[in-house]
Amino acid sequence: MSVTNLETNLTSTIVSPINGDIAASLSNSTVDALVSQYGTPLMVLDCDVVRHQYRALQDALPNVELHYALKPLPHPAVVKTLLAEGAYFDLATNGEVDLVQSVGVPSERTIQTHPIKRDSDIQHALRYGCNVFVVDNANELEKFIPYKDQVELLLRVSFPNADVLADLSKKFGCKPEQALELINYAFELGIRIKGLSFHVGSQTRSGEKYSLAILRCNEIMKQVTDAGLPALSTLDIGGGFPVHYTPDVLPINVFCAPIRDALALLPETVRVIAEPGRFLVAPSVTNIAAVMGQAERNGQTWYYLDDGIYGSFSGLMFDEAKYQTKSLIQSDDVYSSVLAGPTCDSIDVITDNIMLPKLNNGDLVVSTMMGAYCSCTATDFNFFKKAEVIVVGEETMFASISA
Ligand SMILES: *Cc1c(COP(=O)(O)O)cnc(C)c1O
Repeated sequence: MSVTNLETNLTSTIVSPINGDIAASLSNSTVDALVSQYGTPLMVLDCDVVRHQYRALQDALPNVELHYALKPLPHPAVVKTLLAEGAYFDLATNGEVDLVQSVGVPSERTIQTHPIKRDSDIQHALRYGCNVFVVDNANELEKFIPYKDQVELLLRVSFPNADVLADLSKKFGCKPEQALELINYAFELGIRIKGLSFHVGSQTRSGEKYSLAILRCNEIMKQVTDAGLPALSTLDIGGGFPVHYTPDVLPINVFCAPIRDALALLPETVRVIAEPGRFLVAPSVTNIAAVMGQAERNGQTWYYLDDGIYGSFSGLMFDEAKYQTKSLIQSDDVYSSVLAGPTCDSIDVITDNIMLPKLNNGDLVVSTMMGAYCSCTATDFNFFKKAEVIVVGEETMFASISA
């Protein structure tokens, strides 16, 4: 992924409201200017939208420390923008450690939350200065025996969520009933467990999933003190906050109401953190692709774009997200059309029924809501190069922040 700072007067995009939320929306002249400068395909990242999303989630969850999970869009401009907003960071891999380190994020503002790590991964994070890690079983816990004087751990608890795009509790997390035993084992080993974490799954449909998990974690915390073990001081409520791929998604402030209610029942001494990924970045990126060629097949026009399922639209395979796609030229004369990607593989179809005006080769197609789990999972299969990421709305000066 290459990074380019736009040195023109296109400092920021127009932001349009959807249900009180926003998505980057580029004017036609901005799209034309970007394409004439950089060609296609492009992914245009608007840092103003990232800022807006961070503030909206912080307003919806006051007193919760937001750790941006880098996984959906590991881009330095996002990290810089969020650092200037006062965010913290959730890292899972050595590459993510290296990225935040290169941007100058103080290590105290980071946690390493991959539940399964190699010794070399633990050492890599420790060398940077990140000393909060996540475990969910005894085998993983024992990996920290050599580092017990340096680390503080969160125990990840699973709360299955069948109702979600990606149910992360299938792959990670101990059962709530196992938590006390693991915390006791850590105590015997002399390893400090400072709190609990969970992830209810990505693009979660209702805040009740979180509130149930928070209440169950509160019970575990009581069990821990009742057992005479050191009190847990941190609760990490994970990521999964939803964005408006479709109009039925709740505005974030409404979505978070049950979460706020459940958090209000925790002891005041508990520090609450969250790990939002998708919510902070999904609306911030717009894809611009060009028509390479076209054909009439079975009563529909097929348009072959220079970006597709193996590229920026990879989220359609891996993530089941919905993007909003339109042609740059607008007309009332529209026809059922197919948008296909450029590779020679037949699964490389973005949508098999979209109403579009007649397009010419070279015409542009614009898709919004493409910030999360798109660029990062793109490939250059068939040697079609990945879309270049262009950054707009970046501030030149970053407020200095203290760790
Ligand atoms: C992927 C992930 C996140 C971010 O999830 P979103 O659904 O994008 O908010 C947060 N924490 C962990 C541990 C993750 O694996």
